[in-house]
Amino acid sequence: MQLSDVAHQDTARRRLRDALAACRVPHAYLFAGPDGVGKRMLAVRFAQRLLCANPAQDACGACEECAMMASGVHPDYHYVDRGLKKFHRDKRVQARAAIKLSIDVIRQFVIEAVLLRPVRGRAKVFVIDEAERMSPDAQNALLKTLEEPPPDTYLILCTRSPEQVLPTTRSRCQVVPFGPLPSEFIIERLTNEHGIDAADARLIAELAGGQLSVAVQYAEREVAARAVELLRLLTGVFDDPIAFGKGVRELAEAIAKRAKEAARAETDDVEDDVEGDADEDGGHEISASDTARTSRRIVLSLVGGLLRDVLRVACGDGPRAVSRPADVAVVETLARRLGRRGVVRALRAVSDAEAALEQNANVGLVFDALGLATSGPAPVAVAR
Ligand SMILES: [Zn+2]
Repeated sequence: MQLSDVAHQDTARRRLRDALAACRVPHAYLFAGPDGVGKRMLAVRFAQRLLCANPAQDACGACEECAMMASGVHPDYHYVDRGLKKFHRDKRVQARAAIKLSIDVIRQFVIEAVLLRPVRGRAKVFVIDEAERMSPDAQNALLKTLEEPPPDTYLILCTRSPEQVLPTTRSRCQVVPFGPLPSEFIIERLTNEHGIDAADARLIAELAGGQLSVAVQYAEREVAARAVELLRLLTGVFDDPIAFGKGVRELAEAIAKRAKEAARAETDDVEDDVEGDADEDGGHEISASDTARTSRRIVLSLVGGLLRDVLRVACGDGPRAVSRPADVAVVETLARRLGRRGVVRALRAVSDAEAALEQNANVGLVFDALGLATSGPAPVAVAR
């Protein structure tokens, strides 16, 4: 495992290499950027470089430390996420839902663990994933550790939303920015490694916004086919906005169903599901409500992604996500029908729907409202 394995994150890799070359590696990092662009991948490789017995510019790949890292059993590498609550010493913590990264988990698996001597004697590296899920009290409890960890202790916090991490936490870490991956890179991976057809791969890559793991998740959930259905549904929104809303909701249900099948088929990959939560008996069953929520979010982001293609066409550019002639024709029709202003209004309706669902609004009403707002301006009340 080498730092250079992580493609297209040149800024992040350069920051780490510069720190290593200058022998001035900060004790706390915050890797910040979208999901699925290589944050965790780079964190593991950096950890290996720090733990390696014969490091040069990179880890040697040949020593015992490197072998242990490669097989995922190095005792001084600590991966911390909300799933760890299952292994907490307190049964009550184990029984809790793992939505947050709680103070109990941070205390046992980070704050107390940093005080122990490294088992192999070189260093200890902690990677805290989804750091934005740390509760405020967990973050406050961690401040002292971030500020003054024992010697040769490194903490790497990974987050998709650094703005959700407390400023006091952020300021104690060196922030390393990660950007979205180029579409061409994602397309290549989807076609070569997942056997996805080129047009579908382009569609998925664009709709996933440069996030490889999201794109792979889309591929597993057969999202490309859903996106094409969604495009057809959009053309009907003017005639029957309520039917459009209902259709979008049904697509979300279809995506959820496919996700459950995929999870059952490949239980090992469930940990990649952003909303996935292991159940209490240690199995990998994803909770049904989480899957439904994630699927509704996916379907809304698809509507948004397709509308951005419509906007491009309405502004005189070519579409980026859709490439099959039949789909391009639909996008062109929508661009004519909606006009630039109409697309912007529809995009606003999508973000309103996203916000409403985030606040647990009634799902049926949210999708009805999406249809109505997409189809045209709200009817003006006539004064009597
Ligand atoms: Zn080594």
